[in-house]
Amino acid sequence: MPAAPPAESHGGNFLRNIIDADLARGTYAGKRWSGTPGDASAHAAAPPDAARIRTRFPPEPNGYLHIGHAKSICLNFGLAEAYGGVCHMRFDDTNPEKEEQEYVDAILDGVRWLGFSWNGFGREHLYYASDYFDFMARAAEALIESGHAYVDEQSAEEMRIARGTLTEKGRESPWRTRAPAESLARFREMRQGQHAEGSMVLRAKIDMASPNINLRDPAIYRIRKATHHRTGDAWCVYPMYAYAHPIEDALERISHSICTLEFEDQRPFYDWVLERLTECGLLARPLPHQHEFARLNLTYVITSKRKLKQLVDEKIVSGWDDPRMPTIAGLRRRGYTPEAIRLFCERIGVSKADSWIDYSTLEIALRDDLDAKAPRAMAVLDPVKLIITNYPADGRDACSAPRHPHDPAMGERSFGFSRELWIEREDFAEEPPKGYHRLYPGNLVRLRYGFVVRCTGCLKDAEGRVTEVHAEYLPETRSGTPGSASVKTKGVITWVAASDALPAEVRLYDRLFTEAQPDAGGRDFHASLNPASLTVVQAYVEPSLATLGADERVQFERHGYFVADRLLHAAQKLVLNRITGLKDTWSK
Ligand code: ATP
Ligand code: MG
Repeated sequence: MPAAPPAESHGGNFLRNIIDADLARGTYAGKRWSGTPGDASAHAAAPPDAARIRTRFPPEPNGYLHIGHAKSICLNFGLAEAYGGVCHMRFDDTNPEKEEQEYVDAILDGVRWLGFSWNGFGREHLYYASDYFDFMARAAEALIESGHAYVDEQSAEEMRIARGTLTEKGRESPWRTRAPAESLARFREMRQGQHAEGSMVLRAKIDMASPNINLRDPAIYRIRKATHHRTGDAWCVYPMYAYAHPIEDALERISHSICTLEFEDQRPFYDWVLERLTECGLLARPLPHQHEFARLNLTYVITSKRKLKQLVDEKIVSGWDDPRMPTIAGLRRRGYTPEAIRLFCERIGVSKADSWIDYSTLEIALRDDLDAKAPRAMAVLDPVKLIITNYPADGRDACSAPRHPHDPAMGERSFGFSRELWIEREDFAEEPPKGYHRLYPGNLVRLRYGFVVRCTGCLKDAEGRVTEVHAEYLPETRSGTPGSASVKTKGVITWVAASDALPAEVRLYDRLFTEAQPDAGGRDFHASLNPASLTVVQAYVEPSLATLGADERVQFERHGYFVADRLLHAAQKLVLNRITGLKDTWSK
């Protein structure tokens, strides 16, 4: 057996080392694949699998995907791509009550948007666990007949107590020794709807004294008289996740079944199911193998579909795609790019140790992606008028600036300079604090891409609030003209001309939670909701934004990255979301 390469290789992705070793050893070399999922007999006469590895991404369609799922998607689809394999897109839809078609559609949309495909080797690999219900029931009967499963008629409470604890062995059920024929008859009655929910379950017969509680005769089928979003009312018994999952993997001839660490204790049962069904002749070697990695925990974010659904149901956010949501749909609407999310997943790597990733890591990946792509523009988010008192009322100078400071190919943008401008309210101080270099009476400041002005004062209303700032411009100082740099200023401020600026609704998003770990240790996340997670302001933006289309991004100098909202933005009404601020803090 070749030695495993050192763990440092592959940028800290230990799963690559495992796959390398499996490929070197030929673990899956004898695997056959008929082209569609199937049992041992279906694959027996098939040609060798052309895919070197098969992975799968198996969400339950009970909510929208979140950033944690993105990690699993990048991992599973990424490994398949890297190794000449294929990743199956599979819905683990074995739980009828919570699943819906809306979620199926949103999940497919999210994976596609991230840039991954479940096509490979000439076909699409989109599968549903519910398509395997027949096989799963047949496998259950095989387990019963071979003495590996029994129908237990204890109450749920009795079973719970008899299961024991970490320090105390479990007790065997009185139904455990009943004849297989009797269990089989009962199981068929369960399937036919003859028994009430909760009155009995089918259990694997393993070991009630096992130190691993998951092996203490786990339930494998339960009665649920619920309508399933795909199979309708065809079934009133549904398989348990821990039983269904290894079967789904085996029917699809998955080689590497990658899941999060919580399932580590389930691995012995995963293997048990596959071994027993192989002995029964229903499945064939080589069998899939489960590998666990640490889930993504991101600070200031909740990654539980159930809790995210609560935020939606309680109307704390506007929907699954609210730009504050850590869902793929929310991140997309917020302005995140698929490239940024993939870069983030690559940077955080894959490990076996649980840890928290700082939210800023995601923002840094976003800035690293957008810096080169996003055209620049100026916007004033908290406007106050600046009157250039020595500039003619009907005057206009044409100013221009590069769309991107490092990419001349993006061209230039132009905008006017006029007597009345909009500037940020914070860029004027009647009495400047120490080190303040922006507008205050007597001070010289450059209006970026425009003129140098000298502040002369301001007007105030009855409450003392500044209503207008006044300044005089220095005509020889227009940016880009000869000698314009002869007058030095310590401060530079952004502005737009009142005559040609466009009004825009700007949505300033902040973290949804004020605590880094809003739901850690069973804490109620409601206690740390950030009341200021959304601030809507009426801003003025440069005329170059007139052609900005929905989903297009821009960097407002000094303010950060913004995107035209996919749903609300229109030519008649500009609606922009702040994606994230700039790393660099604006100079004094
Ligand atoms: P939830 O508890 O929020 O419903 P889940 O793990 O049950 O999450 P699934 O739809 O079953 O959600 O997950 C699909 C896949 O995504 C699984 O393989 C799961 O391990 C993986 N996954 C889910 N959350 C994370 C996370 N935070 N980090 C990495 N992978 C994750
Ligand atoms: Mg789940």
